Amino acid sequence: MRAAYFRGNEVIELVDIPKPELAPGEVLIRVGANGVCGSDRKILRGGHDLVPGHEVSGTVVEVTPGCTTPIGARVAVYIPRYCGVCEYCQSGRGNLCPNKPGLLGWATNGGYAEYMALPERNALRIDDRLTLDQGVLLLDTLGTSSHGLRLARAAEAGSALVIGAGPVGMGAVAYLRAVGVPDVYVSELSDYRLEVARGYGAIPVNPSREDLETRIRDSHPYGVDLVVEAVGSLPTIWQSFDMVRPGGRISLVGEYWGPITYEGAKRAWMINDITLIRSFYFTIPEFYENQQMILDGKLNTAPLASHSYPLEQIAEAYKLFATGNSVKIMVRP
Ligand SMILES: [Zn+2]
Ligand SMILES: [Zn+2]
Repeated sequence: MRAAYFRGNEVIELVDIPKPELAPGEVLIRVGANGVCGSDRKILRGGHDLVPGHEVSGTVVEVTPGCTTPIGARVAVYIPRYCGVCEYCQSGRGNLCPNKPGLLGWATNGGYAEYMALPERNALRIDDRLTLDQGVLLLDTLGTSSHGLRLARAAEAGSALVIGAGPVGMGAVAYLRAVGVPDVYVSELSDYRLEVARGYGAIPVNPSREDLETRIRDSHPYGVDLVVEAVGSLPTIWQSFDMVRPGGRISLVGEYWGPITYEGAKRAWMINDITLIRSFYFTIPEFYENQQMILDGKLNTAPLASHSYPLEQIAEAYKLFATGNSVKIMVRP
């Protein structure tokens, strides 16, 4: 089967490799779509020994004895390799399983290939009325963002600021509007993405042309109820503290592995009752709740899957992603 490898220095190579062999309890999917993700940047530069791709949907083509998923079922791949028996897994929170040996598509071969093997319990069913692209959007784009937002009680917010409108940030915009948050500011350097945010009824701000704090404080003198940090950088984490109102909440959904130091700390951060929420991925029940929100017409996914490329043109997909003129780009093996 055809598969892509990241060789380092942004070199992507297409090769033919054998179709995966299934271990007990696994199913084989024919990959329908794999979403391009900002978190791939590190392995795009540094190289990776396995087939990358962790935002995957596809159709089940083979199962192992004991599996109940029918051939032909359309599924999205939930990446935490959760144990299924601990108290977190029992409550659907495989993202928090302390026994998870890595993530599918990172610690195992992922979705930049014609076929992918995965444990049956990681194959989440996509409703017949939804597309395989929507299955991908229910993962990092909508799943990761809405999880952080649910923890932050986003539906209670009257105002919010999303910093960074890449796929996860734009997923946050879509979710915030779906749950009825009236004033959603979006700070983003790409005018393409700002236009998509405007389409969701958000208030676009390009901080290269306009002072974000002035813009927000014109209407919200104390700051916003909720800040969603979707860049994953220390300066934007600091910025979140400056933009949130006393008593407000900050949801960190951007990928940031570094130390959260407080060199730029201000007195106001100490005395303002700020709730800081760091979340990871999402729970399995949330996947189905979000699916229902799409089916009910509350959550509009149309603007989120902005482009698509065949696997043979995966390098083009990453070039486009680097320009910022896209939301979620689908690669189709
Ligand atoms: Zn991702
Ligand atoms: Zn577990």
